[in-house]
Amino acid sequence: MSEEKIPQATVKRLPLYYRHLNLLHNQGKTRISSRELSELIKVDSATIRKDFSYFGELGRKGYGYDIAHLIQFFRKLLDQDEIASVALIGVGNLGTALLHYNFMKKGNTHIELAFDTNESKIGTTIGEVPIYHVDDLEKEIKRRGLKVAILTVPARVSQEVTDRLVDCGIEGILNFTPSRLTVPNHVRVHHIDLSIELQTLVYFLKQS
Ligand code: ATP
Repeated sequence: MSEEKIPQATVKRLPLYYRHLNLLHNQGKTRISSRELSELIKVDSATIRKDFSYFGELGRKGYGYDIAHLIQFFRKLLDQDEIASVALIGVGNLGTALLHYNFMKKGNTHIELAFDTNESKIGTTIGEVPIYHVDDLEKEIKRRGLKVAILTVPARVSQEVTDRLVDCGIEGILNFTPSRLTVPNHVRVHHIDLSIELQTLVYFLKQS
């Protein structure tokens, strides 16, 4: 199975499948049909069957899917055996909330350290995450070999901070700023613009 062939929309649903299958497994359930899973996670069953078909012959007619097998399979695919350490840049309101949010409980990512320019925050910890001065960004990220960063700085400095992150080896950025970032091809940016998400939701409500 080559990962290139799996559509991006399918890949994005993997963590959702993985989380819910784990819950079912913990409840002692051993198998599930695509219809049952569909009701649980609100993704239609045809999509689930199509998604799962990319991973080979995993379901059997009249039997459904073997939960333990799926979990094992998705764990490998999502690399859940390894904990991914992440850096966060910009400990404002949003950054602080993310530091308090316990990612480890929901998946295997963990914010290892954070950076800011505000002297009153440097040297403190939030949610057990130490905060460093952004002047130490390159040194600390390289030393720890981090590959992923969360960006919660003000928009006006987002590109400049991004360039520095890319230069010190960051390959994935979760961008919470409203800016569209310019990065080289090997770097992946996922943009989460909360105001756009909210506006879109309101727009759809008005349409229906
Ligand atoms: P939020 O958007 O998170 O609600 P806020 O209103 O609390 O933010 P912002 O002005 O957006 O504050 O700044 C977010 C954080 O980014 C602040 O803690 C600020 O000190 C920090 N910051 C500003 N410039 C930089 C920089 N160049 N590098 C790192 N952090 C920075």
